[in-house]
This record gives sequence, structure tokens and C-alpha cells, in this order.
Amino acid sequence: MNRRVIPLNELSAVPAFSSAPGAPRGSVVDRLARPLRDLRISVTDRCNFRCVYCMPRTVFGHDYPFLPHSALLTFEEIERVARLFVTQGVEKIRLTGGEPLLRKHLERLIERLAALRTPDARALDLTLTTNGALLARKARALKDAGLTRVTVSLDALDDTLFKRMNDVDFPVSSVLEGIEAAHAAGLGPLKINMVVKRGTNDSEIVPMARHFRGSGTVLRFIEYMDVGRSNGWNMTEVLPSADVIDQINAHWPLVPLDAHYPGETAQRWQYADGAGEIGVISSVTRAFCSSCTRIRLSTDGNAYLCLFAGTGHDLRALLRGGVSDEQIADAIARLWQAREDRYSQLRGQAAGGPRVEMSYIGG
Ligand code: SF4
Repeated sequence: MNRRVIPLNELSAVPAFSSAPGAPRGSVVDRLARPLRDLRISVTDRCNFRCVYCMPRTVFGHDYPFLPHSALLTFEEIERVARLFVTQGVEKIRLTGGEPLLRKHLERLIERLAALRTPDARALDLTLTTNGALLARKARALKDAGLTRVTVSLDALDDTLFKRMNDVDFPVSSVLEGIEAAHAAGLGPLKINMVVKRGTNDSEIVPMARHFRGSGTVLRFIEYMDVGRSNGWNMTEVLPSADVIDQINAHWPLVPLDAHYPGETAQRWQYADGAGEIGVISSVTRAFCSSCTRIRLSTDGNAYLCLFAGTGHDLRALLRGGVSDEQIADAIARLWQAREDRYSQLRGQAAGGPRVEMSYIGG
């Protein structure tokens, strides 16, 4: 378990509040002129799957020391810190895990976060990434609470392969039911994320494309990444996005699309016959650090400036330490202004030090 944390008062040497040309009003920017826009909040470090690339059973077994309930940020604390992040430029909040739908009464947190959308604030996109296992049951309540949309992780349609990958014998049909329920509840446009691991599920690329073509969902293929230290990542298991595009293009011709906004992680492609679009997220072969506007908040309130960071910054101590909103907002600004993380851009040159696990801070 790797959870190195530093207190936020060590950032006092950084000058506060600046902005860059092109950054939204009120946004702080980091040392590489990247504005703070996206906040990903992990609401639980637990998951009901044991996917080998994220929470392998060999590491996350019965005796794994998951966080005790008292360590988790409460809904009140999450709402407060999210509101302060919004004052620093955040326009999009994504709830992650672990599996976020395992957090009890999650819709109550969504209601609180949705209430941050005041008429004078910038539009706040409120979304969630899930493995889909509980989605059929919860989609309507999530929508009613104010969730904008969902992204569902799904790595295969073949039931035997899917069960082998989730390692808990969970059937693909139940995830597909969850996707249907999310559609019916209006949690769209729905995105489906497929992590492609060469030699494991690359045979599913074309079947997945066939299944979701014309359905109104956006299927996105993600290169297998070296997040954390527990998944035994190896470069030979990475299938470049260019190969994914070639495979699909051979069946259904594709044409490239422009990004929706600067810094969009996925490169967009459209089926030439009008059956919708797909995306590829080339985290390994085409790093997008130069436009990375994301900060991650762990279940126990540590802020991470990069998916591959080894050290978190303790916001929970401020939230529970009688510190004012203004001081916490200032600490967030200073933290972001000191940021120069760009792991994927430097991959290969980076030192082999500790890295936080994906299940602790979300993907
Ligand atoms: S490696 Fe870090 S800085 Fe680069 S895109 Fe990923 S999270 Fe952002």
C-alpha cells in the first residue's frame, strides 16, 4: 500500500492566484500554464470487481486493509471542498472509486454537488465512472439527484472473457442492462470505456464496435497504462490506438473529428456511414499532459496532481482542522500553481519510485 502524503502548509512559498491568457476567469494555472478545470473525487476505495489491471486479487485479497469509515471524507466535507475547487476554476466533477456506486446513499452526495450549480456559476458538469454492476438498480435515482451523465467501464462482450477479466464471475448481461437503464434514465450521452490489453481482450475490439455502433453511445478505447505498482504492467501488452483505429476502419470506414474542447483526452472518430462516433485515449503512445487540467481527490481527502503521482496533499487535515474556506481555497490555488507533473510525457525517463494505486484515486 502506497499512500505518501504531505501537509499543504509546505506550499507557502508559492505565490497565490494567477491566471493565463485563455484560461477561464477565476481559474488558477500551474507552472506549465494549464488551468484547473476537472476534479475527480474517489468516494470509496472498495470495488466489487477484481480486474487484473486495477485491483488484482493477489494484492487486493480478503485481508487487504481498505480505509476505515472514519477515514473517508463525509458528504459534507466533499461538498465543501468541491465548492472551494469550483471557486478555483473547476467546471467538471467526476465521481470515481473503487466503484462509486458502492458508497451508501451516493445520490445524497450528488444532490449536494448538483446544488453547486448556482445561476451565477459556470456550468458544472457532474458525472460518474462505474463498472455498471449496480447501474440498472440506481440509474433513475442518480438522474433524479442531478447527475448529468455516466461513463461505464466494459472491457469485453464475450461473457467468459469478461468474467475472467473482472475475476468475480460477474456476467456481461448485467452490465448491458445497466447501460440500457442509464439510457432510459437520460444519463447521456453515455460513454463506454474499454481498456485494451494486447493478448487479453484485443479480440473484442471489433465485436464491441459492432455492438455499440448506431446505439448513441460513444465507445472509447484506452491504452493499457502503468498506473500504480500492482498490475505488473508491461509495454508489450499495450496495443497502440493506431492499431485499434486500423482494425475498426477495415470494417467500417472512419473519419477524424475535431476535439470538443482544448485538452479533451480522447481523439474522436466518426463512422463514415453516420453510425455515430468512437474515441481513442492514447495515454501511452500519444501523451496529453500538456493539456491536462485534472486533479484527483482520494477517498480520504488527499489531492493528487497526476494519475501517476507518488505523493498526495492532505486536504482532509484542513477540512477537519478548523481552517476557513478562504484558507482552504488559497491552499488549493497554491497547490495547483506549484504543479509541473507530466508523467506520460516523460514515461521511460521517470524514476521508478512509488505510485498511488488507481483504485485509491480513480482512473
Ligand atoms: S500523466 Fe499525469 S499530467 Fe499527464 S495526462 Fe496523465 S494525469 Fe495528466
